[in-house]
Amino acid sequence: MVSQRITITINQARLSIIQGDITHQTTTALVNAANPGLMGGGGVDGAIHRAGGPAILEECKQIISRQGRLPTGEAVITTGGNLKARYVIHTVGPIWHGGNKGEARLLASAYEQSLKLAAANQVDSISFPSISTGIYSYPVREAARIAISTITAFLRQTTPLREVVLVLFDPKTFNAYSSALQESEQ
Ligand code: ADP
Repeated sequence: MVSQRITITINQARLSIIQGDITHQTTTALVNAANPGLMGGGGVDGAIHRAGGPAILEECKQIISRQGRLPTGEAVITTGGNLKARYVIHTVGPIWHGGNKGEARLLASAYEQSLKLAAANQVDSISFPSISTGIYSYPVREAARIAISTITAFLRQTTPLREVVLVLFDPKTFNAYSSALQESEQ
């Protein structure tokens, strides 16, 4: 089966959505939907640590002992360990509490801080999962709109990033991002 990819161009960069497993991506960086303790866990976090091996957890522990738990909406960078990606950027998305607890702002911040950290490390290509829409229960259609509007706003600025890929794990999530991408072009 040929996997579906939808791509738009913003300035000199491409933004794509695909359905797949983020641990197989060959972009320079992968973003992990982590939790504040950075100790791994379920979902995409567990998959990235399993595929990347213990070097990632080792660096996460050092970060936590230096600066404490990672606040929601912020991001840190580690090695990619055994992954094809050189770096993993760990960010913490918000837990959905109904929408009146700053969730939208915090989700946008998780994308934006990850992109800023990538750019600061001269990363030219980066893959994101659908942050917060799994265990953290953020409604996927709204999360997709925020992801796409935050990424496109970032790519309109001057940046070393040339490729951003949103790697969606299941067809329902892919379809939500596909609709949001089409809406963003209208
Ligand atoms: P959160 O706690 O931020 O909600 P989850 O890992 O529970 O994070 O879910 C975020 C999204 O990542 C969900 O859509 C989930 O299906 C997806 N996901 C899980 N494993 C992978 C993977 N290997 N590659 C890409 N996406 C994944």
